Amino acid sequence: MIAVDGITKYYGPKLAIDGISFEVKQGEILGFLGPNGAGKSTTMKIITAFMPPTTGRVTVMGYDTVDDSLEVRKRTGYLPENNPLYTDMKVESFLRFVASAKNVKRKSIKASVDNVIMECGLEEVRGRIISRLSRGYRQRVGLAQALINDPPVLILDEPTIGLDPRQIYEIRQLIKDLSGSRSIILSSHILPEVSQLCDRVAIINRGKIVAIDTPSNLTAQLSDHRIIELLVGERMDDALDLVKGIEGVVSASRLNSHIVIETSRDMDIRPVIARKIVEAGIPLMELHAKEMSLEDIFMELVTEEEV
Ligand code: ADP
Repeated sequence: MIAVDGITKYYGPKLAIDGISFEVKQGEILGFLGPNGAGKSTTMKIITAFMPPTTGRVTVMGYDTVDDSLEVRKRTGYLPENNPLYTDMKVESFLRFVASAKNVKRKSIKASVDNVIMECGLEEVRGRIISRLSRGYRQRVGLAQALINDPPVLILDEPTIGLDPRQIYEIRQLIKDLSGSRSIILSSHILPEVSQLCDRVAIINRGKIVAIDTPSNLTAQLSDHRIIELLVGERMDDALDLVKGIEGVVSASRLNSHIVIETSRDMDIRPVIARKIVEAGIPLMELHAKEMSLEDIFMELVTEEEV
């Protein structure tokens, strides 16, 4: 459905994306996760045929984004990062305007507008001026304009940014409801968002995909990299020195009241740590292995890249 093949993008001398490749299947939601400046928006603008890559190639349903950009745009709904809307228009007239700009047939315009108004929960505000709407509703209008010609591909750049928690919840629900047979790419810098919404997550950092997999595989990938948390009642410095000397410990450091211990894979040295602490007469309060969250993995991958 979407095939991205080795694209790079230079803005003048600046390399913004550096050899990105991936595919998105029909009905799949792919999340782009990465810090600001990672290259998420740039990749999205290339997929939506808003600008060409410097090298490489993207096809959407078989159409090349450079050679067949009109065909790509017909099939792609795009919610850009800052959700530009004609804010002095009423919701319904704006959507009618977008429909005709996107070449929806005259006699289908009313039905298309009614349909996206219903799909995006805009019934109550259809006659209201956009600038008077809440951010949450404006974001719904942004989604509605992306959906007006019922495109099979949706590209949503930070769809929940700037919304309050209730609005975030509602927009996420809406995106889930919209997925169905559509292929969706959405970007976010919020981890729970992508792990909840997406079938697969591409972690992007400094213009490169550093990992791409299902949220559960990404979590499993590094979960045998054990992190152990230790809490002692007193003599934390002694405990820290002692732990550092144990075979299999890669690193140990203080984190608030705990000692965080990283151990090599395939070794569970919790019994050794427990025994040594007790033998040294240090009161052992807690010792447990920590599950790595997607957030930890993200930090690890991104940090590795920066080394
Ligand atoms: P993200 O969406 O992940 O925040 P962007 O794709 O917006 O990242 O930006 C990637 C990099 O390209 C950043 O370093 C950014 O400063 C740079 N960049 C983005 N747009 C432009 C532009 N129009 N001109 C020059 N540099 C740009």
